[in-house]
Amino acid sequence: MQKIEHIGIAVKDIESANNTYEKLLGYEPYKQEEVDSEGVITSFFTMGESKIELLAATNPDSPIAKFIEKKGEGIHHIAFAVADIHAEVDRLKAEGFQIINEEPRKGADNKLVVFVHPKSSNGVLVELCQEIE
Ligand code: ZN
Repeated sequence: MQKIEHIGIAVKDIESANNTYEKLLGYEPYKQEEVDSEGVITSFFTMGESKIELLAATNPDSPIAKFIEKKGEGIHHIAFAVADIHAEVDRLKAEGFQIINEEPRKGADNKLVVFVHPKSSNGVLVELCQEIE
C-alpha cells in the first residue's frame, strides 16, 4: 500500500456539502463525477498528496443511501493507493480478509477499485485503488 489516496465522506446533498467543504478547506473541488454503477455523485478536493471524496446517492438503492439511513452522514471509507490491485487482492485474501468485489471495478477519478469488508478491518470500509494508465 502506497499512501492514503483519499477519505470518502457520505453526504446527503452534494451541492450543500461542496459549499461546506469549500468554506472549510478554502478552495473548490477539482472535479465532480457521477459513477452510475455505484449510484453516486462524487466531488474531489485535493489535500496534499491525498484527497477528500464527497459521495452522495443518486438513487435510493445506492450503498451511500443505505449507509446514511443506518449511520447518518460521515466518514464512509478510507482508500489506499496500490500499485498492483490484483496482487493486493490475492495477498489480502491469503491473510483472511473478506473482499467485497474480487474483480476490480471502475470507480471515480480514473481508478480501479476493490473494497474490503469492514467486518474484517475493524469496522472500517477499506477501498484499494489503482490508477488506470
Ligand atoms: Zn473512494
